Amino acid sequence: MKLAELNPQQRAAVKAVDTPVLVIAGAGSGKTRVITHKIAYLIDQGLAARHIAALTFTNKAAREMKQRVGQLIDGNRAKGLTVSTFHSLGLDILRREHKALGFKPGLSILDGHDRLNLLKEIAAHHEQHFHPDDLPGHAQKISGWKNDLILPEQAGDDPAALLYRDYQRCLKAYNAVDFDDLILLPVLLFQNRPEVLEKWQARLRYLLVDEYQDTNRTQYRLLCLLTGKLGRFTVVGDDDQSIYAWRGAQPENLVQLHRDFPRLKIIKLEQNYRSTGRILKAANRLIANNPHVFEKKLWSQYGFGDPIRVLAHEDEFAEARQTAADLLHHKFRNGGRFSDYAILYRSNHQARLFERALREQRIPYFLSGGQSFFNHAEVKDVVAYLRLLVNPDDDIAFLRVANTPKREIGPATLEKLGSYAQKRHVSLFAACYEMGLTQILGDKTIDRLQHFCDFLGDVADRAKRGDTLAVIEEMLETIGYRDHLRDAAANPKQFERRWENVRDLLDWLARLLEEAEDGDDPLNAAITKLMLLDILDRTRDEEAGDRVALMTLHAAKGLEFPHVYLVGMEEGLLPHQTSIDLDDIEEERRLCYVGITRAQKTLTLSYCRKRRRYGEMVDCNPSRFLEELPQEDLEWVGKSALPEAEKKARGQAALQQLKTILQEAG
Ligand code: ATP
Ligand code: MG
Repeated sequence: MKLAELNPQQRAAVKAVDTPVLVIAGAGSGKTRVITHKIAYLIDQGLAARHIAALTFTNKAAREMKQRVGQLIDGNRAKGLTVSTFHSLGLDILRREHKALGFKPGLSILDGHDRLNLLKEIAAHHEQHFHPDDLPGHAQKISGWKNDLILPEQAGDDPAALLYRDYQRCLKAYNAVDFDDLILLPVLLFQNRPEVLEKWQARLRYLLVDEYQDTNRTQYRLLCLLTGKLGRFTVVGDDDQSIYAWRGAQPENLVQLHRDFPRLKIIKLEQNYRSTGRILKAANRLIANNPHVFEKKLWSQYGFGDPIRVLAHEDEFAEARQTAADLLHHKFRNGGRFSDYAILYRSNHQARLFERALREQRIPYFLSGGQSFFNHAEVKDVVAYLRLLVNPDDDIAFLRVANTPKREIGPATLEKLGSYAQKRHVSLFAACYEMGLTQILGDKTIDRLQHFCDFLGDVADRAKRGDTLAVIEEMLETIGYRDHLRDAAANPKQFERRWENVRDLLDWLARLLEEAEDGDDPLNAAITKLMLLDILDRTRDEEAGDRVALMTLHAAKGLEFPHVYLVGMEEGLLPHQTSIDLDDIEEERRLCYVGITRAQKTLTLSYCRKRRRYGEMVDCNPSRFLEELPQEDLEWVGKSALPEAEKKARGQAALQQLKTILQEAG
C-alpha cells in the first residue's frame, strides 16, 4: 500500500476507519487523493471492494476518480467497487427495489425538459388556473422541496404544492421518476422499510464522498441512513468550493455532520500540491472576501511561479481569436500538449466563439457540458422509441414519437387522446386500447393508434428475446427513420451529421448492452443507464486524446490543468448579472475561486471592453474579482491596469518595498 505517497494528515485520514471522518481543506490539497488511497487501504485491510462505495456529483468527476483508483489498485481487486454519482447509486437502488416502491420494471427518468412538459400537461387539465409563465418557477420549487426532503403534504398551501401532488401521482402512473426522485425515493424507502435498509447497509459497508460541500439535505439523509449509527464513512470537502446552491446544496451540512456524529474526526490539510505559490496566493486573497465556516491556510512547496496575466480584449470575437492564438503561441514556446490547456468560462453560451476560433486555428479541443449530444432532435427521437420499448406507459416519449416519422396521428388526435387518458387515469398507450375511445375518435384513427402500439409491443418482445441491437436497427428501418431525417434536413451534410448521431447512439447502446449484468433485463438496464447518462452530463466521450478542454467553471470542479485561461472576467458575466441583481456575490466568488485553483503552472485571465448583449454592443466593466486579486502579482497585457487597481497596485508595491527596507534595516 502506498501510504508513503501521503503526508501525515492525509495518512491519518486514510487510517481512521473506526470513526466517521471529515476532511476539510482547500483546493488541490489532496482530498480526492485521500479518497482514492483510502479505498486501496480498505481493500488492503480485507474489506471486499464490493462493500465500498465512493460517491461524487458529476459523471465526469466519477470517471476521473475511477481512473485514479485504477492506477492504485489492480482491476481484479477492485472488482465490484462502486465509484459513481449519488444519482447513479440512487438509480441502482430504485432499479433493484422498484417493487417495494410500487413501480414496474423499466423505469423512465425524466429530465428537466420532460418535467416541465409534464407540469404543463397537468396544469392544462387542472381545475386551478396556472399561468404558463409561472410553471418553470413551480418546477424549481418542486425540485427544491425534493432536495430538502419535503413531501407534497408538507409543502403547505403554495400553488406549486398543488401541482407537486398531482405531479408525483402522474409520475407513478407513468412508471417514471425525475432526477430528484433518484435520491428522494431511496431515502423514503429506507425510512419506511428497515429490512430493505439493512440489506443495503450490509452491502455497502463503507462510504466515501468527494465534494461533500455540494450535498443537499436529501443526499445527506441518504448518507446517514446507509452508514447507520456506526457512521462508517469518510467525506471530504471545501466550503469555499460550494457552487450548487441552486441544487439545494448546503455548506451547513459540514456543521450538521459535527452535530450528528459527535465522534467525527475532523482533519485539515494545508499543503497544496497543485499550484504555484502565486496562483495559490491569488486564490486565497480572493476567497478571503467571503465569510468562512472553517479557517484554512494553504501553502505550496512549488516555486512562486509566473505572474498572472490579465488580457484586455476589444470584444468577445477578439477574445476568442486572441486566446486561441495566445494558447498556440504558448504551446509552441513551451512544448507540452494541447491537453495541458483549459479554457474556462461562466456560461455555456460563451463556448461557441471559442469553438470557432479553435477550429479556425486547427487546435483540437473537446467541449464539456455544452450543447448536448442528447439534445439533438434525432437523438431525442430514438431515445424516446427506446424508452417506449421498456416502458410503454412513458407518455412523454409517446407524445414525442407518435407522429415521428409522420403516420397521420396529428396533434388534434393526441390532444383528445390525452384528455381521455387523464380522465381515466391511464397512460396514453393504455388508452389506445380502451373501448370508450370510440366515443371521441373515429375508427380509422383508433386503428392507426393501435397499429402503432402493436408495433411497439412487438418490437419490445423481440428485443427482449435476443439480438437486441439488430431488432432496434430493424425497427428504425421499418419506420423509415433514415428517410425521415433525409426529408427533414436542409442539406445533405446536415442529414449526414444527424444520421451519424443516430449511429453513435446505437454504438453507445451496444456498449451498454454488453455491460449489462447477467440476470438483469439487458435492454432495460442499458436504456435506464442511457437516460441517466443523458441527464447527468450530456457530453460525448471525446475527452480522450490530446485536446484543449473547453468547459464551464461548474464542470471544471475537481480537475487540474497546467495552463488555464479564465475568460470573460466582466461584471455581468462573472459575477453573473442575476447574482449581482440579487446581491448574492459570494457564490460567484467561489466559482471564480474554483476556476483559479484549477491552474497548476500558469493562469491567464481575460475580459472584453465590449460585448454583444441582446444584439447590441455594450460597454463592459472588468470583474470586481480582478480588483480583489493581489495586484502586485498581475501582469496587465494590452492595457494598463484598471485606474483603481493601478493605484492599489502601486500602493501595495510601495508597502512591499517598505517592508523589505525595514527588514534590511533590522
Ligand atoms: P480539489 O479541491 O480541486 O478537488 P483536491 O483537494 O481534491 O482538490 P487532489 O486533486 O486530490 O486535490 O490533489 C491535487 C494534486 O496534488 C493532484 O495532482 C494530486 O495527485 C497531488 N497530490 C495530493 N496529495 C499529494 C501528496 N501527498 N504528494 C504528492 N502529490 C500529491
Ligand atoms: Mg478533489
